[in-house]
Amino acid sequence: MKIYKFGGASMKDADGVRNIPKIIQNIKEPLVVVVSAMGKTTNAMEMITHAYLKNDRVTLKNKLIEVKNFHSKIIKELFGNENGSESFLEQFEHLEVKLDKKPSLHYDFEYDRIVSFGELMSSAIINDFFYQENLKFNLVDIRTVLKTDDIYRDANVNWELTVELMQKTFNFDISNIYLTQGFLGGTLTNLSTTLGREGSDYSAAILGFALNATDVTIWKDVPGVMNADPRWYSDAQKIDQLSYNEAIELSYYGAQVIHPKTLKPLQNKSIPLYVKSFLNPEQSGTIISSSKSKKFDVPIFVIKQNQVFVTISPKDYSFIPEDKLIEIITIFKKYRIKINQMQNSALHFSACFDKNRHTDELFEFLKSDFFVRYNENAELITIRNYNPSAIEQMTKDKIILNSQVTRKMAMFVLVV
Ligand code: ADP
Ligand code: ASP
Ligand code: MG
Repeated sequence: MKIYKFGGASMKDADGVRNIPKIIQNIKEPLVVVVSAMGKTTNAMEMITHAYLKNDRVTLKNKLIEVKNFHSKIIKELFGNENGSESFLEQFEHLEVKLDKKPSLHYDFEYDRIVSFGELMSSAIINDFFYQENLKFNLVDIRTVLKTDDIYRDANVNWELTVELMQKTFNFDISNIYLTQGFLGGTLTNLSTTLGREGSDYSAAILGFALNATDVTIWKDVPGVMNADPRWYSDAQKIDQLSYNEAIELSYYGAQVIHPKTLKPLQNKSIPLYVKSFLNPEQSGTIISSSKSKKFDVPIFVIKQNQVFVTISPKDYSFIPEDKLIEIITIFKKYRIKINQMQNSALHFSACFDKNRHTDELFEFLKSDFFVRYNENAELITIRNYNPSAIEQMTKDKIILNSQVTRKMAMFVLVV
């Protein structure tokens, strides 16, 4: 069986949705179709959550209208009238009912309850569209089978239970095609969780692992994994073949095209991952598998934006021995900071990380024992297969806050 995942960019308009049945119609094997929220809906849902928790009714109302209009336009094109998808209207009503109630004090819990409607609304529309197209399929609410702990916004999968429930639920003797949502999970008590932003690639991999898929394909708005993000580098070239390890490194350092958690479950069962263009489905895309990466001589560039770069040193001018390092890393973990690059010396520890809601609290905490200096809006540039001209190209006229060069990789933290 196969897993196909369609992301926000593949479903940003009615043409994108119409494309899905076209892509899946020739598949004879059993198939699970995983969908994420349409277009940039998750960003809008984040704003709705924020307004809801701040009791900012005006922003809440305006954003909600925006979300409804965006989906209604797609529905009108697909079904001929904007009330053409009953399943969508039902989900939207649930959302409105939720937003009329008083929120709890738990931000991340409320976030997952509200933001999950992005995927619930998109799968509702796809469900009704598949019916209209006479496709035979079953819809599964992923929250009933992808079981997680209650670390809201960054939930961890309960693998044993998830595998058991998925194998029971996705029964290909009953249906050859299943439709389900990416990004979402459910706790043991059936509360909604999410797997972290852009997590629906990971959902596809979890399904692939649990159902022993022959392969997993993530359909994207690019021809495959390229040697740089084509949005900023117009000469970007497609990489035909990558090893799991190489792809893990690229996604870990911020190549947005694959969520970093996606590859490990697939690697553990040697399930190949295809990254393909939903605009040109017949093209080969990139295959990621246990084979060694094909020799690819051009440098590969990865840029991670919105980085914070912090340097701390103990106020008592003591060294930073191993036990102090453990203490520092534990503090970062407590504030759910994911460190992308770090460096230490006798008196200093530096780290580059994604800004999150807890960054200011982290700094406040650190300030009691350390001198703290930091830059926001930094960029982390990673170059694999680097050469002098690639380094020159990326760092020319830029202020370098930190650099690390290994045999395979050159990394720079730059002031933007
Ligand atoms: P999805 O529709 O699944 O959410 P994403 O938007 O998360 O897809 O990922 C696709 C985007 O990733 C592309 O539009 C591209 O701009 C960006 N991207 C970043 N790095 C790369 C890379 N190395 N190769 C291909 N695309 C990349
Ligand atoms: N819709 C979610 C997000 O935008 C998950 C995903 O698209 O992968 O983060
Ligand atoms: Mg995405």
